[in-house]
Amino acid sequence: MNIVTANALKKLYGSGTNIVKALDHVTLEIEHGEFVTIIGTSGSGKSTLLHMLGGLDFPDSGEVIVDGQSLFALSPDELTIFRRRKIGFIFQQFNLIPVLNVYENIVLPIELDGNQVDEEYVQEIITLLGLKDKVYNLPHQLSGGQQQRVAIARALATKPSIILADEPTGNLDSKTSLDVIGLLKVTSDRFKQTIIMITHNEEIAQMADRTIRIEDGQIVGGMGYAKG
Ligand code: ADP
Ligand code: ADP
Repeated sequence: MNIVTANALKKLYGSGTNIVKALDHVTLEIEHGEFVTIIGTSGSGKSTLLHMLGGLDFPDSGEVIVDGQSLFALSPDELTIFRRRKIGFIFQQFNLIPVLNVYENIVLPIELDGNQVDEEYVQEIITLLGLKDKVYNLPHQLSGGQQQRVAIARALATKPSIILADEPTGNLDSKTSLDVIGLLKVTSDRFKQTIIMITHNEEIAQMADRTIRIEDGQIVGGMGYAKG
């Protein structure tokens, strides 16, 4: 079953003679539970695509369907609610709140949504990500890898069906990167979450079920289609 479908996504930037085709009729299907990496040179359209799959950016034409819902058919408010409920974002910047401890950072999005924290689930994520003895620490007391694990825990805490990650290990050394993504893979397998991740790291790309390569706004490798 597809969790994400993109149909003929097109996005142009600029005007006149200065037009950039950031996405040029991109069509892809991602199956529930798949771990997909997106690779390609700088400026090839990776971030534009990822943002569109998460409804953070709008195409000029084409559609994105997430879990049966056409994103761009929603009003801005509905889209915000849908995104919060279904999608977890992880960026290169950890974006942790410095005055909140690790646990408070992790549950903040749940509380901002006015939802009850599923303490058992959150504790399991904290344990799986090796943060159990860090819950009372402030972000500045943690290493980069630990901070990124907190950002991952925070993204997972709302129980999203999809994790969208834009170079989540861009600030980490290569061993820490592999450790962190290995843990993300364990947690997403455990909770049957779909991961779509931009990476420049060849070894991380190889950990995925499928790698999609983008060049000049077009999918040129990995096919847009799920294996199954
Ligand atoms: P990648 O993530 O692969 O580096 P991007 O999706 O960020 O690529 O960018 C794809 C192309 O679109 C690039 O040529 C980039 O310069 C251009 N682009 C992206 N965002 C904007 C923007 N807000 N305004 C103008 N051009 C943009
Ligand atoms: P108890 O009822 O036993 O005091 P809580 O329900 O307050 O436990 O918390 C259970 C677990 O959740 C704690 O062991 C801790 O790991 C975590 N936790 C809860 N609140 C916080 C917090 N403000 N800071 C750090 N960890 C917390």
